[in-house]
Amino acid sequence: MQTATWPPGGLALVPHNLARDKCVSRNDYKAGSQLLSITSYATTLLDSEKGRRCDFCFSLPRDTTHLKRCSGCGSYWYCDEHCQSAQWQTHHKRVCRTYNPFLVSPEYQALPDYKKLDSIMLSHVIAQLSLLPDPYAFQESAPSSLLMSLIAGPDKSLAPPICPVKPIPPPGLVQKLYARFGNNNFAIHSHLNTIGHGIFPQTSRLFNHSCLPNSAAKYIFEPGAAIRMEVVALRDIAKGEEVCLPYLDPALLETREQILEFSYGFQCQCPTSLFLRRIGPLTDTPAVENEMLKISEELLEFVGVDSTKALISLPNKPLESLPPSLYCVLRESYMGGLSETFSKASHEGQYDIALQSGDTLLSLYLLVYPLNYPQIGMHCLEMAKTIWNVVITSTDQNKGRVLKDQARRYLVLARRVLDVFGPEGDEGGPLQEIAILDGLLQSAKTRE
Ligand SMILES: [Zn+2]
Ligand SMILES: [Zn+2]
Ligand SMILES: [Zn+2]
Repeated sequence: MQTATWPPGGLALVPHNLARDKCVSRNDYKAGSQLLSITSYATTLLDSEKGRRCDFCFSLPRDTTHLKRCSGCGSYWYCDEHCQSAQWQTHHKRVCRTYNPFLVSPEYQALPDYKKLDSIMLSHVIAQLSLLPDPYAFQESAPSSLLMSLIAGPDKSLAPPICPVKPIPPPGLVQKLYARFGNNNFAIHSHLNTIGHGIFPQTSRLFNHSCLPNSAAKYIFEPGAAIRMEVVALRDIAKGEEVCLPYLDPALLETREQILEFSYGFQCQCPTSLFLRRIGPLTDTPAVENEMLKISEELLEFVGVDSTKALISLPNKPLESLPPSLYCVLRESYMGGLSETFSKASHEGQYDIALQSGDTLLSLYLLVYPLNYPQIGMHCLEMAKTIWNVVITSTDQNKGRVLKDQARRYLVLARRVLDVFGPEGDEGGPLQEIAILDGLLQSAKTRE
């Protein structure tokens, strides 16, 4: 694949001391720049999305009755003839007849959910390869040969059964492909919610992992077109710098080492992983409520989030500078608990609790996520929405004015972060929500 167009755009592959090689930037890039735009090789919708979206382009119609159902199997849905024909030609004509009998077969039914999804994806890939002019032959420079050239993951488990495809694939091929699934499948998301899986061999071949990545992947759905992945710079990237993606949620502070080892077969050398290995087992979070409150206050102060003052910008504290008294906040259960408390309290109108837990959660996000990571922006938006709900239920005008200012601040921060990542997936989404809430706050201001 070392042709003139590979790697694409402003990227280059150079040797790396631990990995196969690394992808470096050939230019200086500003935060928000698009580094790569690539079409999917194969995709599969999550079961929960089947019949809601187009199986080919993943578009969400305004009304699901507008989706056209495959008259052969009745199990694939499309925007129109164009999407149907595109998928028919790529793989569906080889599985349309065998899909339903396979789905009710005992061997498929016995699979755990994640393997069911792998089984369908594998069936799509095999059907696609069976339709090559020379079935199952890997041509130089085709995405399929790039897929096979990827390093197999450490998971040696048996490939799940697949939907029968003719001509029958050569022995060993299904297993060989499956060995590349665990470490090379991407979760396709819309507004950060996973809706399907996809294979993007070029992206897999290019980027190494970091828990503090300088870029992130987002997905573009266009009616009638295959799903596209765009890799976006989260911060300014200098010429010659390695470009990394997160292979997993960087907030998985306790389990990421194991996941990276078992699913990908490497140990991460990023500063936060080195730090976590150095400090060893984490201390427990206190069981007493008062002590928990103290931890929360200490964390807010350490990160520099003062909920009583205007937050002009988002502070950026390196995780490695965390004092030992706060190591307990790195427990995954701590973040999970905060996030549960925040959404429950803001849903039930217990605003003091919501704002306290929400600010603590923001501090934690700023500590564990890289600069401009979209989750930080999403949370700032949630904070603004929670405060807006207090505004509309409050009768105290002075308090209302202070709260509106506070909501505006969170909205500015949310926009600043999410503008870098940009829109993805379905129409609407957080950037549109920001615009709507901003409009409400503006008109509330003119009424003051
Ligand atoms: Zn479509
Ligand atoms: Zn069909
Ligand atoms: Zn790491």
